Amino acid sequence: MNNTLFDLSGKVAVVTGGNGGIGLGMARGLADAGAAVAVIGRNESKSASAVDDLRRRGVKAIAVATDVTDGSAVSAMIERVVRELGGINILVNNAGMSIRKPPHELEIEEWRKVIDTNLTSAFVCSKAAYPALKASRSGKVINIGSMMSIFGASFAPAYAASKGGIVQYTRACATAWAADNIQVNAILPGWVDTDLTRAARQQVAGLHERVLARTPAARWGAGSDFAGIAVFLASAASDFVTGTAIPIDGGYSIMG
Ligand code: NDP
Repeated sequence: MNNTLFDLSGKVAVVTGGNGGIGLGMARGLADAGAAVAVIGRNESKSASAVDDLRRRGVKAIAVATDVTDGSAVSAMIERVVRELGGINILVNNAGMSIRKPPHELEIEEWRKVIDTNLTSAFVCSKAAYPALKASRSGKVINIGSMMSIFGASFAPAYAASKGGIVQYTRACATAWAADNIQVNAILPGWVDTDLTRAARQQVAGLHERVLARTPAARWGAGSDFAGIAVFLASAASDFVTGTAIPIDGGYSIMG
């Protein structure tokens, strides 16, 4: 095994939604592999404690309070990361949210909020980071999809549309930016115990047990389950991997 294959020393990662849940799990993995990390989120106290956690792992870390649905705030955030950390090698488009309603009850403002947060943000952040990723000569973009990129979801129409869109957007960027040596891949998480799913777990009768019954690994995922795949997709180990959408789901998606 070549020990440098997964080494991210000297690299800079931007992780949107890096202050909790899956994003923090990935940020910790990237930091443990040596990357400096910029934590992007709106909640400044959560971001400050994520930064403390990452610094304790021996890397540089900064928090940049940003709403990823605000294009000019995203441009300013990318400029600040380049100025303070020296460039961008890795962009993780992870910020996301959901509104639980069937298609006939969802309001247009709710649709827009979910699409803006989950899908348009990936476009805005990727476009803003592209010059820095290109300048790095070995850029990596990791977009976070979902099981709802694959399966129908009667309870989350905008969420499913945004996550389906993430996979196609990933393929478009992978094709467009291959010549710049930027690899672009998607991760499709299964059911993970985070703030995003906690309310559904409490409100939807039987959901917790149904997920356990359908998941071959027989457990919910944790943020820490995403550290390894983030390091792989951010490192030289994945230099010939692009345009993929990789389920990280304990086997959920292979069950009929
Ligand atoms: P969390 O609710 O724990 O984290 C969501 C993160 O996104 C937070 O850090 C939040 O930070 C950030 N965020 C949300 N909206 C914005 C915004 N407008 N601007 C900036 N940051 C924002 O959820 P998860 O960790 O579960 O979700 C992470 C990703 O994984 C999402 O894309 C989600 O769709 C996806 N996913 C999750 C699954 C699960 O089972 N949990 C399953 C499949 C996919 P802040 O509030 O500070 O802004």
